[in-house]
Amino acid sequence: MSVIDQVTGEFSRLPGIGPKTAMRLVHHLMKGSKDDTLRLSRALVELAERIRPCSRCGNFSENELCDICSDPRRDPSVLCVVEEAFEVGAIERTGQFRGFYHVLGGRLSPLDGIGPEELRIGALLERVRSSRPALREVIVATNASVEGEATAVYLDQLIRPLGPRVTRLARGIPVGSDLEYVDGTTIAEALAGRREM
Ligand SMILES: [Zn+2]
Repeated sequence: MSVIDQVTGEFSRLPGIGPKTAMRLVHHLMKGSKDDTLRLSRALVELAERIRPCSRCGNFSENELCDICSDPRRDPSVLCVVEEAFEVGAIERTGQFRGFYHVLGGRLSPLDGIGPEELRIGALLERVRSSRPALREVIVATNASVEGEATAVYLDQLIRPLGPRVTRLARGIPVGSDLEYVDGTTIAEALAGRREM
């Protein structure tokens, strides 16, 4: 396989990039400066080698603890549970949340073989226990899909007996949509209007 085919193949495996777009990107790189392409490749190597999950919350991080977990100005009374690490960024961009996060790594989906053991639920419960009494509220920001709702109900049953109130984002987030694709205003409103489960 030629190197051009190889790079085109790698690009087309990325979400939202079909074979035609992949080809266009490769042509763009070949036409452009060698320095630009080398800079891109070095940045990708850095990304692969330096980013890992935060040992506490599961967010993307360059260190043992992510920037949020290691920020002493964050509010320890509230914890926001999200499905995927990229959703932390979506909520952070609203500037409306000052607590901490916990990334589950997905949602319960029995048909796909994803049960509680496949998600970071044990770590979440451990965190809730060790964060009491400062922690007073857990916001379950799983997606508004059937599986996201089922995950929220499941978590509510486990977390509530540990003490904190459990809340859910207000409606307004379109059903089935990942937070990443929802605009900041809508997320901010859903946060402000959160309710007890
Ligand atoms: Zn973290």
